[in-house]
Amino acid sequence: MRRSNVMKLLARFGINEGEGVISVPDAQPRTPPAEPRATDDPGPASSDPRVSVDLPAAALIEQALARREGVLDAAGALHLRTGAYTGRAPKSRFIVEEAGVSERIAWGAVNHPISRACFERVRDGVARHLAARDLFVTQGLAGADRTHARSFLVACERASQALFVRQILVRPTPSEQRSDAEPDFVVLVAPGFHCDPERDGTGSAAAVLIDFTDRMIVIAGTGYSGEIKKSIFSVMNYILPVEDDVLTMHCSATTDRDGRGTAIFFGLSGTGKTTLSADPERLLIGDDEHGWGSAGVFNLEGGCYAKCDNLDASHEPEIFNAVRFGCVSENVVLRSDRVPDYTDLSITRNTRACYPIEHISSANARGMGPEPTVILFLTCDAFGVLPAIARLTPEAAMYHFVTGFTAKVSGTEQGVDEPTPTFSALFGEPFMPLDPMVYANMLGCRLRSRNARVYLLNTGWIAGPAGEGRRIELASTRALVRAALEGTLDEGGYARDPIFNVDVPARCPGVPDELLDPRALWSDAARYDISARRLAAMFRDNFDRRCSHLPDEIRAAGPLG
Ligand code: ATP
Ligand code: MN
Repeated sequence: MRRSNVMKLLARFGINEGEGVISVPDAQPRTPPAEPRATDDPGPASSDPRVSVDLPAAALIEQALARREGVLDAAGALHLRTGAYTGRAPKSRFIVEEAGVSERIAWGAVNHPISRACFERVRDGVARHLAARDLFVTQGLAGADRTHARSFLVACERASQALFVRQILVRPTPSEQRSDAEPDFVVLVAPGFHCDPERDGTGSAAAVLIDFTDRMIVIAGTGYSGEIKKSIFSVMNYILPVEDDVLTMHCSATTDRDGRGTAIFFGLSGTGKTTLSADPERLLIGDDEHGWGSAGVFNLEGGCYAKCDNLDASHEPEIFNAVRFGCVSENVVLRSDRVPDYTDLSITRNTRACYPIEHISSANARGMGPEPTVILFLTCDAFGVLPAIARLTPEAAMYHFVTGFTAKVSGTEQGVDEPTPTFSALFGEPFMPLDPMVYANMLGCRLRSRNARVYLLNTGWIAGPAGEGRRIELASTRALVRAALEGTLDEGGYARDPIFNVDVPARCPGVPDELLDPRALWSDAARYDISARRLAAMFRDNFDRRCSHLPDEIRAAGPLG
């Protein structure tokens, strides 16, 4: 859209340049703070607010620095402190309840309803807040495959968050940017607007509100940029399966050097999607959100959002080197010489860096690949009992897809610090508005007709539970992935695991045989059996509670105990 049309669209919410000023706080000169302002610090209103549309990254960085939203690190990345929220706030995410939408939504633990009246109160408050401040508007796409792309117009009070949006979404071409078509969705981002939990019905100062009827997202009270990305993902997870027959997936994706042999890596937060997809021997399609349509797999995004805890140049050189000018990093501690100290997790364990996909040298520039030939389910097992890798039959693949087991690590969600076991259907239930079976059936259909090989990969603990055993070395995990991709894992034959009912390979090039046998790694085999059976029982309980309607052959493919 042209700038004039952007302004017209914003005027619907009462957002106009140079107008709508609520108050101008005292103009006392202030000494610059030593630290950047937190993203959720509301900051002063302006007597003459300006709206900047589609500023290039360098200009957004200048604005962010001038406004003390962040500081540059030694490599030129923009460093932010997000304030009270350093992870997603799943309890603050709501979908507006409305006939025509409500029937489709899987209401429950992850999809919370909010009334239209409450939504409109927050939306109008946010719009007034934004109208009184300088605003940074970005037009971006979700969907590298333009047949399925949807356009988002994102209005931010922070230049730094506009930079995040610019880097994480698919960047429109100049001619797409000039198109006068209205955006499919409008997103208002006001971290400095704090909701009234009682009056607004949001339960906390933060709110992430999705309105499918008027096609809007409103984000208030949280400066964690992951909320912008994951609410847009939630919208795509509602629209694409219904309107385009595209399976949307919480997974990373790569192809081989020739752009063939697509592999996808499903997994909950912290299981290794970003880490394992940054592989110099393969081309990166994307690290987190993809669609699977009739033409193959495509990235919904144009950038990555990598965890930075203990990021290390020798183990993860691609990600380490992606943190440079143009990157936005959140809550990383800087040393006095401005070099990031990735081992310092004193602000949060969930330190993050967002960079455009081109920062990864082996990126697939089109963001698309053919239909997958290998599917990996990543699970980070804090009990230390699952095999490092196992092959799944199509039935077992369905079982593990609807189960979505992992242990949460690194506190991506507010308040979670120690590893705890989790079951989350589709390895991404918090972002899936529709009934999990809609997505599961779409995967089942694709598995039946396409012959992809499916593996369960434990990127978590081995040789004992968290605290006693060790996290499997990244180099070993990478060797297992390579063997799965190349088919060499199949060459040594498989043995059925008697508890987990999955096929464990006998050999893998580059990995000692012992690593493949989880029981043999424990010093006390009897204790292994107790822990493994306990986890198997948790799988069965979860399946009985959530999936009892599924056919017997899927139930029978799960852990036996
Ligand atoms: P999110 O959905 O939150 O983005 P993710 O699935 O992308 O999560 P990663 O960012 O890849 O997860 O996080 C995996 C973390 O675990 C990284 O910090 C990585 O260094 C660490 N790690 C340690 N050992 C392994 C291993 N064997 N395999 C994968 N990751 C490992
Ligand atoms: Mn990731």
